Amino acid sequence: MKCARGGSFSKGELQRFGNIELSPSAGVLNYGQGLFEGLKAYRKKDGNILLFRPQENALRLNIGAERMCMPSPTVAQFVEAVKATVLANKRWVPPPGKGSLYIRPLLMGSGAVLGLAPAPEYTFLIYVSPVGNYFKEGVTPINLVIEHELHRATPGGTGGVKTIGNYAAVLKAQSAAKAKGYSDVLYLDCVHKKYLEEVSSCNIFVVKDNVISTPAIQGTILPGITRKSIIDVARSQGFQVEERLVAVDELLEADEVFCTGTAVVVSPVGSITHKGRRVSYGEGGFGAVSQQLYTVL
Ligand code: PMP
Repeated sequence: MKCARGGSFSKGELQRFGNIELSPSAGVLNYGQGLFEGLKAYRKKDGNILLFRPQENALRLNIGAERMCMPSPTVAQFVEAVKATVLANKRWVPPPGKGSLYIRPLLMGSGAVLGLAPAPEYTFLIYVSPVGNYFKEGVTPINLVIEHELHRATPGGTGGVKTIGNYAAVLKAQSAAKAKGYSDVLYLDCVHKKYLEEVSSCNIFVVKDNVISTPAIQGTILPGITRKSIIDVARSQGFQVEERLVAVDELLEADEVFCTGTAVVVSPVGSITHKGRRVSYGEGGFGAVSQQLYTVL
C-alpha cells in the first residue's frame, strides 16, 4: 500500500517475496523513518488459523506513526492486509505445536528527501515467515545479562514505539552478550540506572510472594501486546499485578522472573548476571506462577 504525506493509503496488492526498489534518499534509509510490527498466526487443532490480536498491533502502529510523523493505515486496512497476506501463505503456517507464522508489517518513509524532514511518500508492506522458538533454549530458561553502559531508550525519545532505530540501538550490547553465551540483555533506565526497563525484544516480569511486578509503561519501554495479555490473565486468575518502577535489587529477592513477547511468548528466566554476580531462579523450567499463566494464555 502507498500513501503520500498527509494522504490515506490505497488498497494494496499481493506480490511474491523479493527485493523492493527504494530511492537512495528514501526517508527510511537516511533518517530512520520506519516502524514495524510483529504478530503471529497459529494453526489450531481443527486446522483453522488463529491470528493473535491483530487490532492491538494496528493500534500500536497508529500511535507509533504519530510519534514518527507518518501517516498510518487504518485499523481496518491493517487487519484486512494481515488477513489477506496470511491467507495467501496459509500453507506456511506450521502444524499445531510446531511453531507459527511470524507476520512482519513494515511502515516506512519511502519517498526521497534530502534535508532532514518527514518523507513525502510512505509504503506499508507485510511479509511472513514460518518460525519455531525464538530462543534456542525453547521454553527452557534463558540467561540474561544486565547492561550498564548502553541504553536502548531515553525519556522523551522513541523507546515506547516500535521504530526501527530502537533495534539499531541494541545491536551492540546484544551481540556482545550473545558472544559471551547469554541469551539476551536486560536494560536499565538511563537516568537512575537502577530500574528495570525491558529485554532487547521482550518485556520482563518479576514474581515475589505471588505478587507479579513489571515496569510501568512510561515512554521508554514498548507496550507489549503479550505483556498486556499476561497482566489481564494474571489478574483474572486472582494474582496481584503491579505496574511500577521495579528496582534492579528486587531481582536478588525474586522467586521467579519471566519475559513476554510475540516471539518468545512466555519465557522463564533461569539466571540474571548483574555486575558479574549471577542470580539463579527455579529448577530448569517454568516457575509455578509463569507456568500457570503460560498454560492459561
Ligand atoms: N519490547 C520490545 C523492545 C519488543 O521488540 C517487543 C516485541 N514486539 C516486546 C517488548 C514485546 O511486545 P509484544 O508482546 O507486542 O510482542
